[in-house]
Amino acid sequence: MPDRPLALVTGASRGIGRGIAVRLAEEGHDIALCYRFGKDAAEETRQAVQAAGARCFADRCDVTDAGEVEQFVAAAEAALGPVAVLVNNAGITRDNPLVLMPPEDWNEVIATNLTGTYHFTHSVAFGQMKRRNGVIVNVSSVAGVYGSATQTNYAASKGGVNILTRSLSRELGRYGIRVNAVAPGFIETDMTQDLSEKVRKKALETIPLRAFGEVAHVADLVAFLVSDRAAYITGQTVQVDGGYSQ
Ligand code: NAP
Repeated sequence: MPDRPLALVTGASRGIGRGIAVRLAEEGHDIALCYRFGKDAAEETRQAVQAAGARCFADRCDVTDAGEVEQFVAAAEAALGPVAVLVNNAGITRDNPLVLMPPEDWNEVIATNLTGTYHFTHSVAFGQMKRRNGVIVNVSSVAGVYGSATQTNYAASKGGVNILTRSLSRELGRYGIRVNAVAPGFIETDMTQDLSEKVRKKALETIPLRAFGEVAHVADLVAFLVSDRAAYITGQTVQVDGGYSQ
């Protein structure tokens, strides 16, 4: 195992992905990260990762495109060695009541959140199996556990990620590979910036800890699940949500 095992984080130009990339760099990993549009933002993440003492490979890669993902993983591994840790974080929302939801919004959310997770895992897991070593963490959502009105596409994608996680843990456990998911509630990022005051107020009344979470709350949980302190945990979807449930 190299001195600084490589952690690959998808969608790390900003938000939760950036927080995870920097946290894992602080924990002693080198980092490979991808983004779709945010080149300048990804450059900021790269600088923060390098400031934490890690080497960093950053490039554009659309998680919905199997060919791009395969090329990205090959280039990252050529630069920094085998992927020891995969964090499938890239995700989007396209909210609407189902009867008003156009097929393209359904398809884009499933393609990004669920199929994107499949693409990266497909490109990384075989190498981890051969090395009999690896950790995979999928960033899901409480919407994938409880469901969420006006988010049928998003909730279905994340519910899919949760059961993919459990199923894959059953496949890969014998190779010494752990697979878990984290399910954040409301976290302060660009994704929750657009919520109306009404939705925000209602959410705060429903969250027992009476606050939205911070990126660091999710990154800390991911860092724990990646670490050997979680050596006997696999197949789980762990909520980080201030107690929110409905
Ligand atoms: P965000 O601030 O909107 O950031 C999303 C990230 O994903 C960006 O880096 C974006 O890259 C990247 N991305 C999106 N589509 C991509 C694609 N096709 N290929 C590659 N990268 C792509 O979102 P966030 O709040 O940090 O969310 C991160 C994850 O946490 C998502 O899976 C989300 O579902 C989950 N989550 C968030 C919350 C919350 O309250 N914020 C709650 C539960 C779960 P570009 O900017 O370069 O396009």
